[in-house]
Amino acid sequence: MNHLTIALSKGRIFDETLPLLAAADIVPAENPESSRKLIIETNHDNIRLVIVRASDVPTYVQYGAADFGIAGKDVLIEHGGEGLYQPLDLKIAACKMMVAVREGFDYQAAAQAGSRLRVATKYPNIAAAHFAAKGVHVDIIKLYGSMELAPLVGLSDAIVDLVSTGSTLRANRLQAVEHIVDISSRLVVNKAALKTKHDLIEPIIQTFAKAIV
Ligand code: ATP
Ligand code: MG
Repeated sequence: MNHLTIALSKGRIFDETLPLLAAADIVPAENPESSRKLIIETNHDNIRLVIVRASDVPTYVQYGAADFGIAGKDVLIEHGGEGLYQPLDLKIAACKMMVAVREGFDYQAAAQAGSRLRVATKYPNIAAAHFAAKGVHVDIIKLYGSMELAPLVGLSDAIVDLVSTGSTLRANRLQAVEHIVDISSRLVVNKAALKTKHDLIEPIIQTFAKAIV
């Protein structure tokens, strides 16, 4: 019997994936928020979930340690998508990749072609491509979280980060000044597994496709 390993991250992606899994009759045996287990069994003997960091999902799937997974477009653009088949936009965990600055900061003046801007972000590839396309020279400062702090303490002029409601920006007196790309999560499938485990994976893709809202 073929086995299936599905890579998911905790939090919003896990929560928003549960209904899709349920539509495919896949029910996790435990909740990763309360369990410390990184491998979660399901109601099927041959299907298990592995709980990994959101940004590590493409890597597990690329190398076949997981047959498929669900990852944000932000993570997929940064990763590059090598070895991954991306059949579905699941329309979950929707947000926007934006440029934000301190309230009152004159971004238009600072981002004139020819000037130099310091940009802090967890997404150096997306940020670099965005500013290169605008002809704005940037120094990218790689951070792993709490990007909102960087402009407040003079680490950077701007940040490139995900924005949904904007309440985190407002709470830190920042404002979004440029939209880069709309983000949502995608189903990513290991290209080899799609062939060798086609009979198991294809019906799940079809069921997910019908369950997208
Ligand atoms: P960690 O929080 O452990 O550093 P992470 O930020 O990558 O990791 P999540 O916050 O769960 O993990 O985000 C996972 C995915 O959800 C992101 O890659 C993105 O696609 C999406 N996402 C992130 N923030 C938001 C948001 N505010 N609203 C909607 N979707 C979001
Ligand atoms: Mg987060």
